[in-house]
Amino acid sequence: MAGRLKSLIEGLGPAIGRPWMERVSEHENMLREIRQDAEYTATLIGKSALSADVMAAMERVPRHEFVNPDYQEQAYVNKPLPIGEGQTISQPFIVALMTDLLAPGDGDVVLEVGTGSGYQAAVLSGLVSRVYSLEILQPLALRAESTLARLGYDNVVCRCGNGYFGWPEKAPFDGILVTAAAPNIPQPLVDQLKPGARMVIPVGLPGLHQELILLEKDQTGNTTTRQVLDVIFVPLTGDPLAKPSG
Ligand code: SAH
Repeated sequence: MAGRLKSLIEGLGPAIGRPWMERVSEHENMLREIRQDAEYTATLIGKSALSADVMAAMERVPRHEFVNPDYQEQAYVNKPLPIGEGQTISQPFIVALMTDLLAPGDGDVVLEVGTGSGYQAAVLSGLVSRVYSLEILQPLALRAESTLARLGYDNVVCRCGNGYFGWPEKAPFDGILVTAAAPNIPQPLVDQLKPGARMVIPVGLPGLHQELILLEKDQTGNTTTRQVLDVIFVPLTGDPLAKPSG
């Protein structure tokens, strides 16, 4: 593992701002904590280990590149961190778990709602054919787009807009991952799932009980949901009655 990380991080050069060896061991600790969290939550998530492909994707993405300068020291700590505008980059275990629940496949086209730092989109990027990602706050959308482009994640397409309405021009999707909590599951997103596709979404009110939900649409278009885990997310904002932007 260290060898692969070493070559990846060396490839990134001085952007890191710290000796690569230090970041390698931090990154390895983060991966170990994700594995431990999967074990602790095994009865809730229905498995004791996340998929090897998802763990490999978590290993490939340099989280420090998506973390603000003020929080570089904590870039590989298994917790959410502020990214400005009152928003956060999600906890690495939750990113890994949501990606695992989505069960992405090589040829998939997926939608992310809530680009934030772009980290989750980068993790998905290595597992699917294309990622469309929507962010409602323009400063974050612009910054994530430039971070992803600088790091070469060229199968991620970002747009600033209200993700409640999804991205109808690019639908239907093989999977939808929502990284902000909605009071209920937005119907436009359900409509934009292909038969057999999945959506992973935190549902609940800000500061109150929120559940991570896995929604599956079967071949006939019927949906079923499963509550996976209690979570804490920033709220999905934007007026659901307003007209879609963009
Ligand atoms: N996936 C992000 C974490 C995002 S936090 C990452 O990897 O860093 C949730 C994000 O959802 C915030 O940036 C917030 O601005 C955004 N958001 C909230 N409501 C939204 C909406 N209606 N449409 C699109 N993005 C939204």
